[in-house]
Amino acid sequence: MNAKRKPPRDRTGRSASRPSPTPTRTERTKAAPVSREPRFPGQPATEGFRYSCTACGLCCRWGGQVYLYPADVLRLAEQLALPLQKFVDRYCNHVLIGFPDKEGASILPFLVLKNVPDKDPKGCGQACPFQGADNRCTVHAFKPGQCADSPIIPEFMEDPESFASFARECPGMGQGEFHSPTKVRRLLKELAGRDALYEAQLERCDYDLGRLLGVKLPPPKIEEGLAVEVD
Ligand code: SF4
Ligand code: SF4
Repeated sequence: MNAKRKPPRDRTGRSASRPSPTPTRTERTKAAPVSREPRFPGQPATEGFRYSCTACGLCCRWGGQVYLYPADVLRLAEQLALPLQKFVDRYCNHVLIGFPDKEGASILPFLVLKNVPDKDPKGCGQACPFQGADNRCTVHAFKPGQCADSPIIPEFMEDPESFASFARECPGMGQGEFHSPTKVRRLLKELAGRDALYEAQLERCDYDLGRLLGVKLPPPKIEEGLAVEVD
């Protein structure tokens, strides 16, 4: 599945936001039938929740962004048997995004998957390049960490409203496996460690992501829908 992320909170006075991989409420309403029955009681996700993905593929064609960490890029390229440069050229955009950290927020370069036109005329217009004709993920066994971790991602855990919004539209929410508060906290800690490692790796390369990955990248750009502001 494609994780839903909302812009990080401003914790320092600087403001930064990353492109929300989740389309606006209006866009999502167009893309997804909204259930009239609540699937999620609305408590903070950190209190635990039931969730088992039904592989409906809905969240892979919400026109959102899938962020790739270096390990994701290397794994996908290897599994797809593509030279790293070819994989990056074919499937990735180089963007700048606001990223929450201990001090509040940093602006970091990221690779994100290039969306493709959504084949579903009722969709929001964009889909993940790895979504198959049957809506299933064609790279499921080695998909990006963001997809594997979702819906346990920091932005959801920090924002019950955002999480509840996702839960209303995801048919996998409120059923199946119980994700306990302990499990949620453990995964969040791991994700924080991954973010810190990424920032440290970038810092060692003067924030040159191409240098970090050993590929040539165009200058990072701010994509439509991405706002980056630093006071
Ligand atoms: S990589 Fe797979 S799970 Fe992730 S958004 Fe694309 S199709 Fe969905
Ligand atoms: S069940 Fe939910 S998480 Fe799984 S593919 Fe559908 S919308 Fe995405």
